[in-house]
This record gives sequence, C-alpha cells and structure tokens, in this order.
Amino acid sequence: MRDNVKLIAVSKFQPESAIIAAINAGQLFFGENRVQEALQKWPEIKLQNPEIKLHLIGPLQTNKIKDALKIFDVIEVIDRPKVAELLLKEMRILNKFPECYIQVNTGYEEQKAGILPEDADLFIEQCKEAGLPITGLMCIPPLNEDPKPHFIMLKTLADKHKLPNISMGMSGDYLEAIECGSTEVRIGTAIFGERTT
Ligand SMILES: *Cc1c(COP(=O)(O)O)cnc(C)c1O
Repeated sequence: MRDNVKLIAVSKFQPESAIIAAINAGQLFFGENRVQEALQKWPEIKLQNPEIKLHLIGPLQTNKIKDALKIFDVIEVIDRPKVAELLLKEMRILNKFPECYIQVNTGYEEQKAGILPEDADLFIEQCKEAGLPITGLMCIPPLNEDPKPHFIMLKTLADKHKLPNISMGMSGDYLEAIECGSTEVRIGTAIFGERTT
C-alpha cells in the first residue's frame, strides 16, 4: 500500500468557517464541484493562503471554462473533446496551465460525466498531443456496486498512459481505492460531517 496518498478535502456546501478550520489544521488540498460556488467562497481564502491547491471535481460546462481557470489549480473532470478543445484555447489566452485529469465513466452511467472506457485511450492521447497538461485520471464508481473493478480499471488505464495521478476514493470507499492504487482520495463527509444542503 502506498504511504503518500494525497487527501483532497471536499468542501462543497461547506461554509468558509469550516474551510478555514481545515486550513488551520494543516489541510492543503481542497475539492469543489461547482465553479460558481468556488468563485464565491475561494478568492479571498486563496489570497490569504497561497499554498492551497483547489481541485475541480464536478462537471465542467463549456460556458464555465473561463471562470474555472480563474480559481482552480487542478481540473479533474475533462470528459469530452469539446471541453478539451475550449479549455486549451482559454488556457493559451490566459497563459495559465493548471494540471488536468481526464474523468472516466467506468460504470457507463448516463447521469455521470466522463469519457467511456472504450474511448479513453484515444481521448487521452488526443488531449496530450494537443498540448493539454494531462497528468491523471479520475472516476466515481456507481453507488451500491463493488467499487474495486472500477478502481482497478482506472489504475490500469493510468499505468498504460503513464499518468501519475489517480483520483479515486471517497468517504465510503477510500480504503479500497488506496488498495487499488489511488494516489489521491476525495473526502467530504468523513472530514466535515454530513452536508445539510
Ligand atoms: C462530493 C464528492 C466527493 C466527496 O464525497 P463524500 O462521500 O462526502 O466523501 C468526492 N468526489 C466527488 C466528485 C464529489 O462530488
């Protein structure tokens, strides 16, 4: 088992006071899943704490790309050619190149974002060739299913493409994710408690 798994504290729906408390306790990496919410909560906190790295872990609409680049240090959710293309275009305009991960829809769930597994090889290579700074993969296994096959699929794909960052595991399944090779777990409720909204 790896001993250097990164903890991403998922602070969606959490007030700034909870975020500050986590920062004061030494937490460096945070995840938010909505661009607008992040833009409301984070600019001042990041100004005061420039060492913080904020990850986008929720779906990215093309009309939110510019805003996402204002606030996020890692974008984990690239999932289709249109997003990849517009993101790269905007990165070049702003001369800002945050690390990017590709989200894989390992469970073929219609309601979830992510490139389908059979399209992933080509998409990863196309993103890299185009010049996107792709350094990892991310997945969210289906609820009420054994997450391990999904984690193994993501790890295998990441190794095949020599991508070092493997974002998988949440409050309910992070131990299994780490066993399967996760390099960063995204934990919300186990840190902050239940979300009320
Ligand atoms: C909310 C969320 C998490 C954290 O989930 P918990 O079960 O609260 O740990 C992790 N990843 C994504 C993509 C999320 O949206």
